Amino acid sequence: MSGEIIKRPRETHEAAIERWRRAVEARNASPVEIIRAYRPAQPVIQEAPIAHQLLRFCALFDLAWIANYPRQLNGDYVYNGSFWLEKRHEPHYRLEGAYTLPRGFKVGSEQCPCGAHTPLGKLGCVWCPRCTSRVCFGRTTPSGYFQCRESCGNHGQLQEYSEREFALKLRLGR
Ligand SMILES: [Zn+2]
Ligand SMILES: [Zn+2]
Repeated sequence: MSGEIIKRPRETHEAAIERWRRAVEARNASPVEIIRAYRPAQPVIQEAPIAHQLLRFCALFDLAWIANYPRQLNGDYVYNGSFWLEKRHEPHYRLEGAYTLPRGFKVGSEQCPCGAHTPLGKLGCVWCPRCTSRVCFGRTTPSGYFQCRESCGNHGQLQEYSEREFALKLRLGR
């Protein structure tokens, strides 16, 4: 056996930054209208959509993402993954679409696409009253000191807080 390893040309620091900057730019072209339409939320939804899609923001990269809760066979909505909200997703949403989730709905342990997940003993994401949005735990310390995304700048010790969740209205399946 040869102990050889495959050597790949190393990406320079500048090239890596440029690649990341372009990726962030592309994602920032994400649907501003959707985010605007997110509030004010409409009343509790009456029908049963195929999924509840909860809008969140990333504390680390200041980008919008979706926590996806598809409907199960028994009618419950259970978290199964997240994705960055991008321009190409826009056709799937009604622009006017946002609604309040029913009281019985429960958020799960979520993971932001940046890699940050809900810490043990907590659920969903952090509600930030300054930017009035849900933000990932990407800049929260292990002792629970929260830092919001750069465009907001809020920070402080996490507190118990209950705020009704909202979801974006899907155009899919209609
Ligand atoms: Zn994040
Ligand atoms: Zn904030």
